[in-house]
Amino acid sequence: MSDKKIKRIGVLTSGGDAPGMNAVIRAVYRTANYFGIQSIGIRRGWQGLINGDFVVLNDDVVRHTVGRGGTVLYTARSPEFMTEAGRQKALATCKMLGLDGVIAVGGDGTFRGALELSRLGVPVMGIPATIDNDIGCTNYTIGFDSACNTAIDCIDKLRDTMQSHERCSVVEVMGRHAGFLALYVGLAVDATSVLVPEREMDFEQHVIERIQNARLSGITHFMIVVAEGAGSAVEIGHKIKESLGMDPRVTVLGHIQRGGAPTGRDRETATRMGYYAVKAFAEGRSGSVICTREGGIVETPIEEALKMQKHLQMERYDILEAISSTSTGIKQ
Ligand code: ATP
Repeated sequence: MSDKKIKRIGVLTSGGDAPGMNAVIRAVYRTANYFGIQSIGIRRGWQGLINGDFVVLNDDVVRHTVGRGGTVLYTARSPEFMTEAGRQKALATCKMLGLDGVIAVGGDGTFRGALELSRLGVPVMGIPATIDNDIGCTNYTIGFDSACNTAIDCIDKLRDTMQSHERCSVVEVMGRHAGFLALYVGLAVDATSVLVPEREMDFEQHVIERIQNARLSGITHFMIVVAEGAGSAVEIGHKIKESLGMDPRVTVLGHIQRGGAPTGRDRETATRMGYYAVKAFAEGRSGSVICTREGGIVETPIEEALKMQKHLQMERYDILEAISSTSTGIKQ
């Protein structure tokens, strides 16, 4: 705890954008006002802190942004902030603007940056926002629900046409290192198979046999959901063609999953996290990531947060197997 009265804080969004970042910015601004703290929006992530690129937050900046995707503060990746010289420039900006603390909204990389800044004496707080939900210290990351719903909406549309033409669809969703999005979406769209980076793929068992089993149960269209880190959707399409003689259509959803209006869950979580980050500063605490655990909000020291790991719940595969094989009673 510090007795120093916080007068002014900065907030920035960094790394990949995620729906709900605007709701964080709004919550930070409004909560800071409530506690009598001025808030400054730092534009373009850590690079903005280096360049002194900022906007004084006010009602006009945040009005009607809670339901908008993207981030009004822009986001960026900053190689310069990875250098000591870059961070010294960022420190100079903090001093020039009189910032008593900085709230960094983003993923693990953003928190590593925050940790480095805190080592230079600037109090920091982190808020997890990434559509991948792959941050170990928190059950939930802002943007995940919106991205899942966007992917589900796209796949539902694809299914309509796949069903009409009795085709196989291979859909690549985001997730270079984590399959949270793919598995969640796969369960929600009744996928024939889901491939994730965390599980080694046995192509015959996990794709071909599942399509065959579905066909035996009378199904004539098939939906294979692939996390981008689990392999190339195009290659998987080719291999299905070679093995089964069908002509799968491949769709890569790509960045569409990062856009769009945040869902209620993301707006609400973002609002709570923004509130608690400012409250921590107002009460003299800093150096933590705001996390959700068992429905509540906790503060986890950044160093500890960066060491924590989160594993894909493999039992969700059991559910997928059960759900997609009930019509034949075939259990693999
Ligand atoms: P996403 O999950 O969307 O990729 P992220 O926050 O993990 O989000 P990164 O690109 O890894 O995204 O990191 C964002 C920025 O944080 C980097 O561009 C860099 O400026 C800063 N950063 C990352 N790692 C470090 C580090 N070790 N030291 C200092 N700054 C870092």
